[in-house]
Amino acid sequence: MSLRIIVGVNWGDEGKGRMVDYFARNADFVVRFQGGNNAGHTIENDFGTFKLHLIPSGIFYKNTVNLLGPGTVVNLEAAVKEMEELRKRGIEMNAQNYKISNRAMICFPFHNLQDEYEETRLGGEMFGSTKQGIAPVYGDRYMKYGVQVGALFYPDYLKQEINRCLQLKNQIFEKVYGKPATDLEEAYQWAVKYGEILKPHICDSIVLLKDAQKSGKRVLLEGQLGALRDIIYGIYPYPTSSSTVAGFGAVGAGYFSQEMPVVTGVMKAFSTCVGEGPFTTEIHGELANRIRETSFEYGALTGRPRRIGWFDAVASRYGTDVSGATEIALTKLDSLSGLDKLKICTSYRIGDRTLDNFPITPELVQAEPVYTEMQGWQEDIREVRKYSQLPAAAQKYIERIERLVEKPIKYVSVGPHREALIMR
Ligand code: GDP
Ligand code: MG
Repeated sequence: MSLRIIVGVNWGDEGKGRMVDYFARNADFVVRFQGGNNAGHTIENDFGTFKLHLIPSGIFYKNTVNLLGPGTVVNLEAAVKEMEELRKRGIEMNAQNYKISNRAMICFPFHNLQDEYEETRLGGEMFGSTKQGIAPVYGDRYMKYGVQVGALFYPDYLKQEINRCLQLKNQIFEKVYGKPATDLEEAYQWAVKYGEILKPHICDSIVLLKDAQKSGKRVLLEGQLGALRDIIYGIYPYPTSSSTVAGFGAVGAGYFSQEMPVVTGVMKAFSTCVGEGPFTTEIHGELANRIRETSFEYGALTGRPRRIGWFDAVASRYGTDVSGATEIALTKLDSLSGLDKLKICTSYRIGDRTLDNFPITPELVQAEPVYTEMQGWQEDIREVRKYSQLPAAAQKYIERIERLVEKPIKYVSVGPHREALIMR
């Protein structure tokens, strides 16, 4: 096996980073295929605890090349700052172990501004954006007003491209939002300043990965967010602005091998969600607070408290299907220890109809969860490393989820550290 794709099957924050950090030991390349610095992947290993945004999660292995693929969007300043922070903490960062595709898009400060202005305009109807400019920059890519990272090597062209983008953008800023126009020179100087530092890292990633494929290198594609946040398959209009599913992996990474990958879908043992939108199994009050606190469910980027819910088999089966997962890594099982009863949502009900398939938004907002109750367990399971040593109730919970999502649960994580993992 030389191709593995790791994606989230829920609302994001399932623990993808920790799974990539684990599997990257067997990877020559780790390639992020979508998104920008809107998400955070938390990693706990012998080097410490890290929150990665624009650096793929294979960075802790000496010989692994970490690439931001053509499908990503890169805030140049944020990338430079993240590199510096990792360096300060003793992690080697160089032009060999961190690369950026020349086809990725530059996310400019004016994209962040647009994101902020738009959320303000929406007021009560806002999406709960992380305001990192992700929707505006992907919007520009598809409107063909974006600027490719590779433009940094051609100063005149770079300026011309920024100008082309600002022609429209400044109309929107002034006339729609009543805000000042962005200065072309300022945006250009920003790109030049941070671009200079990043230039050694920028490459033609197509050639890089073609060579990798020819010489039988092991490639791992790292997704960001989760299937329910996919721009096409997610809960519209609350998704992110890129495709998070493994099917997009080849395109976003620029790795066009036709070999069948192993797709590890990362799934949380309960539900969490940041931002707005319907969240069928949401729980409130003391129980939600308890799970949020024991499991430290706060956004890795924004620090926002995550919404908490019971395991949702309808959403998770759908997420598993559309993400293309061939196997599941179930994370954060330890966070459920100490609860008397656990609930699993097995179907939705709207009026007298029962739904087994995840619907689109106008139905989802009406859906009521139908629960089955499971026995909890009291034992602290954080040190368990063998499946047979898990409490019987925990095994039953896992096996029930496995039947419901119809894919094998091959890994169960019981703590945030790299090695707190049970192989089945
Ligand atoms: P990602 O975006 O999918 O990489 O996930 P995040 O890093 O945003 O959120 C997952 C959080 O759960 C992080 O704080 C991880 O350290 C933590 N985590 C991951 N796996 C486990 C686990 O098995 N148990 C516990 N208690 N925490 C975990
Ligand atoms: Mg995250």
